[in-house]
Amino acid sequence: MRNEGLGSWPARRARKTPNRPALVYQDQSRTYAETHERVTRLAHALRGLGVRRGDRVAYLGPNHPAFLETLFAAGALGAVFVPLNTRLAGPEIAYQLADSGAAVLVYAPSHAELVDGIRGTAGVRAYVPLEADRGGYEELLAAAAADPVDEPVGLDDPCMIMYTSGTTGRPKGAVLTHGNITWNTVNVLVDHDLVADEVALVSAPLFHTAGLNMLTLPVLLKGGCCVLVERFDPDAALELVERHRITFMFGVPTMFQQIARSPRWPAADLSSLRLLTCGGAPVPTSLIAAYQERGLTFLQGYGMTEASPGVLFLDSAHAVAKAGSAGVPHFFSDVRVVGPDMQAVPPGETGEVVVKGPHVMSGYWGLPEETARAFTDGWFHTGDAARVDEDGYAYIVDRIKDMIVSGGENIYPAEVENAILADPDVLECAVIGVPDDTWGEVGRAIVVPRAGSALTAERVLAPLADRLAKYKIPKSVVFTDAIPRNAAGKVLKARLRAEYGAAGPGSAAPA
Ligand code: ATP
Ligand code: MG
Repeated sequence: MRNEGLGSWPARRARKTPNRPALVYQDQSRTYAETHERVTRLAHALRGLGVRRGDRVAYLGPNHPAFLETLFAAGALGAVFVPLNTRLAGPEIAYQLADSGAAVLVYAPSHAELVDGIRGTAGVRAYVPLEADRGGYEELLAAAAADPVDEPVGLDDPCMIMYTSGTTGRPKGAVLTHGNITWNTVNVLVDHDLVADEVALVSAPLFHTAGLNMLTLPVLLKGGCCVLVERFDPDAALELVERHRITFMFGVPTMFQQIARSPRWPAADLSSLRLLTCGGAPVPTSLIAAYQERGLTFLQGYGMTEASPGVLFLDSAHAVAKAGSAGVPHFFSDVRVVGPDMQAVPPGETGEVVVKGPHVMSGYWGLPEETARAFTDGWFHTGDAARVDEDGYAYIVDRIKDMIVSGGENIYPAEVENAILADPDVLECAVIGVPDDTWGEVGRAIVVPRAGSALTAERVLAPLADRLAKYKIPKSVVFTDAIPRNAAGKVLKARLRAEYGAAGPGSAAPA
């Protein structure tokens, strides 16, 4: 057998378009041929460190070409890549290293101190620092052979263990095969109309499924160029769009929100941008409108780590007419919105999204019970509530776990948050349930006001009467200066519930 997996992509690209730029990092550009050579050398180097097929190779650090080189080099050996979330604390990293059984860890200087703190506890055989005078990544590459690595790898072999974002609990390692990632890439290529001249701005973290699998890998398969940015900054993002004539960007809603609020935004030259995709969390309609005003079609995607991740996608032709919808299934995804009996609910009614397709994970790493619970007859339970309209367009309502039950009525916080965010003085907002003697639970809005605004609870709540049924309107408001989010930009509702979830009146004035 040949290598059919991701590990063969750099060689295939180098054969087709050796001289095209593949990766740009800090104004240094590398072609596909150069990338292929570095990946081959790294694969030999990893083999020299004892890595064999099936072994796990972890990476810890912000966006950098070495992240992708490590992914492809592991793939060339039939080893399994484990991208780690840079925002996790030492013990959490140690847990994921031990849980995945990583043999090697490649890490960036930003994490040297953290790695020193956990060395010896995580079971890792070899640590490879990215920037070190001696014994580091570049030295390994320079000393390694550059002849082809011949290791048979099939599409059903595991490619990576990607941990979920940990929004609802401890992150779980989704085992994604080379086939899972390949089929997701096919779905993206079919539905995004990517071209070979794509120049993508990769400021979403590569360790997160969306930045890697919805943006970077499809662009690299197609032969486009990825501009890697260590850390997202809205002003810098706009500057890079102009400098590199960026055509394609992906972000979670908060990233696009920050860009639209940047002082550079009004005068920025956005003429090169062709494709903006957004996903990972509910997309406020006010955000879609802000981009439409600049003539930018703003596309929404819905997915999860376990599905590699694309599940639903709203194309540009329907971005306006179906604003707020996450769209229809990707070409090779089958999606149903079902009740507890697994039967599809009628249009307009809320049910759980379940998905089946060649891009859906084989299971959670080391968690056979969680895996069994996650599937019914091969359908993966997303844990998300949605409605489908008469035309088959799905509207993600919220996570089922975040639903508030008030007086027997279900409240999905995302709808309420959306309504509150329509006020330009509201920077951020999250709605949680708090215990209530009469209703069981009532909503509470946690609001971050715009600096200098004179926002009051009354001003937040009064406009909602026109937009929401009475039972959905929060009964109290708490003002704060930041809402806790995880590295993927998602609101940590459990932490908010712990902090602000006690019964009581809330606070009526901005902090
Ligand atoms: P964990 O599974 O560890 O609790 P997580 O679910 O946040 O964390 P991810 O796989 O990164 O981990 O995120 C997938 C989830 O993100 C989806 O199940 C859904 O709840 C949410 N999501 C993704 N895209 C959208 C979208 N377009 N609209 C609303 N929610 C979305
Ligand atoms: Mg999840």
